[in-house]
Amino acid sequence: MNDSIFTKIIKREIPADIIYEDSDVIAFNDISPKAPVHILVVPKKQIPTINDANDEDAFLLGKVILTASKIAKMKGIDERGYRVIVNCNQEGGQSVYHIHFHLIGGKQLGWSPD
Ligand code: AMP
Repeated sequence: MNDSIFTKIIKREIPADIIYEDSDVIAFNDISPKAPVHILVVPKKQIPTINDANDEDAFLLGKVILTASKIAKMKGIDERGYRVIVNCNQEGGQSVYHIHFHLIGGKQLGWSPD
């Protein structure tokens, strides 16, 4: 599998505004933010889509969600509220084939998937 753009960020081959990193997870600002807070929380393991995740990834993906909630607290949006989104494949609007959770907030969000 070729390195995804997010793996290249993990390897510091391309720059990103990194917010958080540990041995399993990295988080950085989205390059094209849709809200005042728009951070991508990404497992370092390059899994193309959530369709490709399996039982052995359960702990890792749980850790990614918990990291999103910790970053929401860090950003001070946890009480006001926020959204965590995973897009999958074409109709889900996925453009980078390395699982990532969008942490979006900092304003009142609508609820239309269009
Ligand atoms: P998705 O469409 O769900 O696959 O989300 C991919 C996201 O990655 C989009 O919101 C892009 O703006 C974002 N993105 C693409 N390239 C970069 C990059 N080099 N640094 C940060 N965010 C990126």
